[in-house]
Amino acid sequence: MTSEEASGPSDREVRQPQKGTSIVYQQLTRPEGLFRHVFVEDEGFLVTFTAQQGRFRDPGTRPNELADIRQRSWPYPSRAEEAAQYLIDEAQLERESYFGVHLFREAGNRRAANTVPTLRALWLDEDEGHFPETGPEPTATVRSSAGRRHLYWRLSHPVAVEWAVTMNRRLAAWAGGDVGKAGAASVLRAPGTANYKRHPRVDLVVGEFTGALPWEPEIMEQAVPELPQPKSSPIRAEPYDGPDVDLAPYLENVEVLGNVPDSVGTKYAIVCPWVNEHSGGDRSGTRVGHRAGGGLWFHCDHEHCQGRGWSEFRLAVRGQVIRITRRASRPDKVKTKLERTVNITRE
Ligand SMILES: [Zn+2]
Repeated sequence: MTSEEASGPSDREVRQPQKGTSIVYQQLTRPEGLFRHVFVEDEGFLVTFTAQQGRFRDPGTRPNELADIRQRSWPYPSRAEEAAQYLIDEAQLERESYFGVHLFREAGNRRAANTVPTLRALWLDEDEGHFPETGPEPTATVRSSAGRRHLYWRLSHPVAVEWAVTMNRRLAAWAGGDVGKAGAASVLRAPGTANYKRHPRVDLVVGEFTGALPWEPEIMEQAVPELPQPKSSPIRAEPYDGPDVDLAPYLENVEVLGNVPDSVGTKYAIVCPWVNEHSGGDRSGTRVGHRAGGGLWFHCDHEHCQGRGWSEFRLAVRGQVIRITRRASRPDKVKTKLERTVNITRE
């Protein structure tokens, strides 16, 4: 399906753009050019994440449930081309192929805490939204299917990962895109691969450099609206003993595998915080979500995780919890929660 892709423009053309016009509308038919665009010559570990649609093996599986997940880390930039070819090869085996959109300090995991401290690009999964035409023009776009795009904004100089993640959330909120992909640890589809979500239809994943020059972070800061303030005291369908925040910040401390359709709220497939306890280290079968008008929940199918719910999950990603509770709206209650959280996590 993608065999013609390998004979696209040579890597050299893509990877060594000269300033200005030579990169205008440059097609991206392989991953290397995008790697170079977002990582430049930074050093770290590039992560590849590949999997097969579960229903290729078991027709009863729900659409976009992933099976046989393989994650690998590659020293960047020394093995970038090898990683790129691996993603293309995996795609040709009818496997979904993604890459970590920033580098990691150490090989072996894509936890947010393992992110390199500075990044050079912002990103957005538009999902069903659309980035406003009036906004800063992306420097690169990747078409992940006929109707879906991922957008990248190369920056003129490196920025702190925390700032980048916040900006990504603001971009996602503005575009009505997928806020869950804003965090460190996100993976997105690489150009030169294929999307099998709608199999037997296969969408080739291709991208382009738009010709826009890198953006000053200060300009992005001014151009992109602040996040809307969370509404105070929403009416909840059920008692909910937790901070008044949405799910997005929690997703930064886990590996998010994908957005799962859910008629009553938001739901994500994630790698379980207790994945090491699963038989064979199985990375599937774990979900977190946010019920519309209700609370946050966690569920893992694995036997060792029976009885673990939202409070256990929240404690497992406790570094994030402490940061969130400081932002909540009722200071007296916050203090209690913060102290209790700290006490419990010291056990
Ligand atoms: Zn589990």
